[in-house]
Amino acid sequence: MTNYFYHTRTRARTYEYSKLTEKELKSFTQSPVNTTLNLSWHHDKDTKLNRKAKITEKGLYIWISKNEGYHIHFDETELTYGKRKWYRCPRCYQRCAILYHAGIFACRHCVKPAYESQNGSKMDYLADRIIKDRKKLFGDESPFVNDLTETCQWWPKPKGVHWQRFKRERDKILAMENKRHQIWMIGVEKFLNRYDTLSAK
Ligand SMILES: [Zn+2]
Repeated sequence: MTNYFYHTRTRARTYEYSKLTEKELKSFTQSPVNTTLNLSWHHDKDTKLNRKAKITEKGLYIWISKNEGYHIHFDETELTYGKRKWYRCPRCYQRCAILYHAGIFACRHCVKPAYESQNGSKMDYLADRIIKDRKKLFGDESPFVNDLTETCQWWPKPKGVHWQRFKRERDKILAMENKRHQIWMIGVEKFLNRYDTLSAK
């Protein structure tokens, strides 16, 4: 139990997005054009996501199915010493360092509205309850207390709260977070379908 609060944040979320980060970007930009890649993302021992991809002259092409896919362009900006590399979000084309998978990979600004707006009232209701109960248990100042892309699963127990009560209250919040995530996943499917329609040749 001593290690309980010291799980790294990447392992700490029950439903973390699969991501493309600067680390992957670095290896992509060092790979020759036409290199094919089998990308996979894992959660604990389970594979969450598999994608075939190819390095192109402009970036990375990712297949969604056998004949369908989309392009993530790369970009760079000049620094005093050297260059900084970026992804271009396939939806809004802004430069970004991390892309999150929500049907397609996209920047946080594109993914979040999809996250927030799905199934409006039910999602809103759960969001209000989750934030309210989190504040009650963890305190108003707790980091990420308003961030619904985070789960409170590994947040530390506040001083002065009895363990039993803490676990009971936290499990209630986790159940609502999971419920909300399930509703959201349905929305993600719609988000993806809409994107496919827009990007179809
Ligand atoms: Zn974007």
